[in-house]
Amino acid sequence: MNSSLVAPGSVLGVLGGGQLGAMFAQAATRLGHHVAVWDPDPDAPAHRLADHSFPSLFTDERTFTQFAGLVSVVTYEWENVPAVLCERLERTSPVRPASSVLRRIQNRLVQKTFLAAQGFPVPRFAALTEPDRLPEILEQLGYPAVCKTATAGYDGKGQWRIDAPSSVPSVKKSLTASSLSAMEWIVESFVPFERELSILVARGIDGQTIVYPLVENVHEAGILRMTVVPAQVPAHVVERSADLARAVVARMEGIGLFCLELFLLPDQRVLINEVAPRPHNSGHYTLDACNVSQFEQQVRAVTGLPPQEVLLTNPAAMVNLIGEDAETIKRDLECRRLLGLPGAFVHDYGKRAIRPRRKMGHVTFLAHDVQTARDRGSRLWQSLLLASRT
Ligand code: AMP
Repeated sequence: MNSSLVAPGSVLGVLGGGQLGAMFAQAATRLGHHVAVWDPDPDAPAHRLADHSFPSLFTDERTFTQFAGLVSVVTYEWENVPAVLCERLERTSPVRPASSVLRRIQNRLVQKTFLAAQGFPVPRFAALTEPDRLPEILEQLGYPAVCKTATAGYDGKGQWRIDAPSSVPSVKKSLTASSLSAMEWIVESFVPFERELSILVARGIDGQTIVYPLVENVHEAGILRMTVVPAQVPAHVVERSADLARAVVARMEGIGLFCLELFLLPDQRVLINEVAPRPHNSGHYTLDACNVSQFEQQVRAVTGLPPQEVLLTNPAAMVNLIGEDAETIKRDLECRRLLGLPGAFVHDYGKRAIRPRRKMGHVTFLAHDVQTARDRGSRLWQSLLLASRT
């Protein structure tokens, strides 16, 4: 089943209909396919772009039968879709990346245990299943540390930084409040990173692998705010990151488009923070700055085409538009000036409701040199920050 090629004109199924699913649908349509989107939220942006839209719960049996009957291949836009659903879908069509890969990735403990066992560099970590054992675990790991839910957290949600023993009781209380649902957590040493980096990697059905340029990421309150490409780091860091990306996805036998989130240490070593089995927010620059976007690459990989070599046509900076930023860019004079520059590309995800911390869109600035792109991105970020305080 997994070696089959999916011809243009087929229906590609995607689980999850947020902006990543929507951009996958656009890429799939451009490459001649039809798209079926399954997302319980009827307002999810990808439904508008789908040939077949299923706004029902992932447990809905009627939808399962219809969806499974329509699609030639299935993918997903994020790792929190039910693995059991992917397993069932796999009985009739390939799911790429496979449900076994999803299972290995969607639980942070399982993922980090796998990476460590394979000899890949990760922060020191320990499993936590009973909040009462937190002090004991911190005793071993040391401070500062980060405690994360093993599943389902994103954008800093379900994550607690613990700087000193004095903050343990309050974190323990938060964990106990959520332990009703038999949760488990991973506790990691806090990494004193110099920079956060990430890298996209596509792997085809024949094992052929390509990597995108290494990028630098800056977060604000746990959410990605700005990405700059190419990362301004020594060549050996770029090579090491690319080698890690290829090796991790090959070891997982992943087929699809993946992203490795990395920490660059002050001594220039690289640690893996997380592997995402899907396009990534830090890869949105590829829509405007590359010959082949991360979403096209995802379509290629899941339909059985070999990954395409990547050309970065320009250095770029991508800035996320979060919550009210979507309105600010329309009225703020400095934002409007920046968006009027040649090389500025605005992407609005078409979400109906503006909510705090919700990703509403992004802006990519292309420039002839990376410093100019970074400056433009930083200026937009500063203007958005200033506007949010007034
Ligand atoms: P995650 O949800 O694991 O991707 O974490 C979100 C963000 O939290 C990362 O991009 C980092 O900025 C920060 N973070 C997560 N884990 C660690 C860690 N072990 N040490 C330092 N910062 C971390």
